[in-house]
Amino acid sequence: MENQPTTYRKVVYLTFPPESSGKPLVCDLARVHGLSFSILKAQITPRQEGQMTIEITGEREAYKRGVAYLQEQGVGVAPVAQRISRDEDSCIHCGMCTALCPTKALAVNLESRLVVFDGEVCSACGMCTKVCPVKAMEILLENGVM
Ligand code: SF4
Ligand code: SF4
Repeated sequence: MENQPTTYRKVVYLTFPPESSGKPLVCDLARVHGLSFSILKAQITPRQEGQMTIEITGEREAYKRGVAYLQEQGVGVAPVAQRISRDEDSCIHCGMCTALCPTKALAVNLESRLVVFDGEVCSACGMCTKVCPVKAMEILLENGVM
């Protein structure tokens, strides 16, 4: 375990000053710093100030460098707490999520054969949201930005 790089998966809320308009700052996270990102929500106000909620994934030191880079460019970076919820009516208990859930928060109950979700042990990594065929697993961001 010690030799493995620490992978970060963080959701952050970015606020861009007007003078950063047109600069590919977020793309630089991938191009310069080797991080992956996905845009969860983006908005530009009439005064050309932008806000964006993105998920950043990558090696821990690269994450720190990427965030420092954004801040040097005047971008506000605020962590967004996230938690996971399951729409119980949508889940079809296919079991796909259980194979990759790192904390076993999603697991098959051997008696009922149903997939149970334990929110207490969920680390909110978001892996299940990417594989669920019916989108039953949802990311809820807690700063009211999504
Ligand atoms: S968010 Fe991660 S830890 Fe939580 S249930 Fe989904 S896969 Fe498991
Ligand atoms: S992948 Fe989605 S539908 Fe399948 S068991 Fe998991 S939450 Fe339910």
